[in-house]
Amino acid sequence: MYLSEHDRLPRTGIGVDVHAFASDDAPLWLAGLLWEGERGLSGHSDGDAVAHAAADALFSAAGVGDLGTHFGTDRPEYAGASGHALLSAAAGIVREAGFDIGNIAVQLIGNRPKFSPRRAEAEAALSDAAQAPVSISATTTDGLGLTGRGEGIAAIATAVVVRSAHRPTPAGPAA
Ligand SMILES: [Zn+2]
Repeated sequence: MYLSEHDRLPRTGIGVDVHAFASDDAPLWLAGLLWEGERGLSGHSDGDAVAHAAADALFSAAGVGDLGTHFGTDRPEYAGASGHALLSAAAGIVREAGFDIGNIAVQLIGNRPKFSPRRAEAEAALSDAAQAPVSISATTTDGLGLTGRGEGIAAIATAVVVRSAHRPTPAGPAA
């Protein structure tokens, strides 16, 4: 692994995820919450674009691949996994790789659901999953693009991690 003085500095990561609205009557799971009466999203798992973007940003920050590396379609045990479970697993992988998580910021892009009334609840759910602060904002695209036409939901996330000071030292003679 590339080691340098940069190891002491925070590392940023980025993640993007998009899911189409499902054609069946699947429930909507988004940002770790169930949204009663809202159209669900299609996907290998529950389609929680907010949680998936957050997880991808964590992997990106730690430099350990991406969502497909860890939870791809070749991992059937993650089919149907909740966004909360995936983000929790991602945070565990990143910590296991020797990083502390600073924070994750996610922006949801879509017309529905109306997000602001449940923002605090969603932030609490995903902060619990990551065991680190997760902030979530929401925006629309003025009717443009796939989210503006109501075809699906997109999310973009950033994360900051820093190499853990208490990570186990490599095997070798004690100092
Ligand atoms: Zn996804």
